[in-house]
Amino acid sequence: MKLRSISVLICVFALGAASCSKEAPSAGKAAPEQTQANAAHAPADVKPGSHEDWCGEHQVPESQCTRCNPDLIPAFKATGDWCAEHGLPESQCLKCNPDLKIVRPPKES
Ligand SMILES: [Zn+2]
Ligand SMILES: [Zn+2]
Repeated sequence: MKLRSISVLICVFALGAASCSKEAPSAGKAAPEQTQANAAHAPADVKPGSHEDWCGEHQVPESQCTRCNPDLIPAFKATGDWCAEHGLPESQCLKCNPDLKIVRPPKES
């Protein structure tokens, strides 16, 4: 009895190992999903104001993320939308505006 259950276990283990090795190639296929999960930052050619235009790291639109793209800073400063204390656009400064909610645009269907 005991021996039999052990061999069943071995069988299950072998099957598990086999299905594991089968999954390895399909993990490559799942790459787009993986990049989506890791998509903290929008691609460079993204449409500003779209759902994809979002910096997951800083929770602001990627096209307005001064932390990812410091080139944007002069434009914010020029419009007076700048918090010098925190080095952020005032419109993105949660330290000065704790109630501020920057909402990601909904996905276009
Ligand atoms: Zn960012
Ligand atoms: Zn501030």
